[in-house]
Amino acid sequence: MTRAASPTGPAELLATWEAGLAQHDWERSLLLHRAARPGAGTDELLSMPVGGREADLYALRRALFGERMQVRVECASCGEAMEFELDASALGARAARAAGAEGASGAGALGAEALGARAAGAEAPGAGVRTASGGALRVEEGEWVVEFRLPTVADLAAAAAVADPADPARARRALLARCTVSAVRGGQAVAPERLGELLPRQVEQRLAEAAEEADPVADVTLDVACPECGEATPAELDITSYLWAELDNWARDLLLDVHLLATAYGWSEPEILALSPLRRRYYLELCADA
Ligand SMILES: [Zn+2]
Repeated sequence: MTRAASPTGPAELLATWEAGLAQHDWERSLLLHRAARPGAGTDELLSMPVGGREADLYALRRALFGERMQVRVECASCGEAMEFELDASALGARAARAAGAEGASGAGALGAEALGARAAGAEAPGAGVRTASGGALRVEEGEWVVEFRLPTVADLAAAAAVADPADPARARRALLARCTVSAVRGGQAVAPERLGELLPRQVEQRLAEAAEEADPVADVTLDVACPECGEATPAELDITSYLWAELDNWARDLLLDVHLLATAYGWSEPEILALSPLRRRYYLELCADA
């Protein structure tokens, strides 16, 4: 398996940004994942468990933009703006553990215990992280026995591809069918494709809970307590959208730098991108002073 997150150069990152501009979230996840693991093939990336992908994205974020992640949330109750910091290494380590401690990111050094330590006003999410055993998960409820595996990146992509705003349950049913290894109702095997219509809500809820327990990183949800009114607001941290927003800002700033330097010195885009950020900044200051 290839090593994660050797930061790619500015030209490659700009190309990643450009390719992702018109894409959906799950496609952007794949693009960013490819930037995190330059040597990996698409099949390898898509067959990783979601937690492993998240670990790689946290490692990429740390390599590109540093350790501390600023998160802004508005209180759902009074609208107060709240801001706190999370630690990319700690979140990445948590993700790697959840994905079976694959050690993909090398981010384990700080340990998941550091998670939330800097999150003023935020409770540390999901204290008990359990590692999935690698085998199928099993839920027994009433007359049902269902064995299933954790969704991979490919499963989520396939579910997203059939998502239909007019039928919100469609993506969920697709995911259920893909990830079910076997389903038995009162001793009779049930085809995974039929679970969407046959499986009682209560059993499905149990499946969701078991998956959440085995792969908690798929959703990082924080309960942020409001300093004004005391109400807790659930805040989801989606590393793909977070990292994409940062990449978008970075790319637009960089293009502005290219424009200013090209105008002032007549240099080409590749020449300007080849400058270190420090030199770019220095030349920009000289332009501003002139
Ligand atoms: Zn409030």
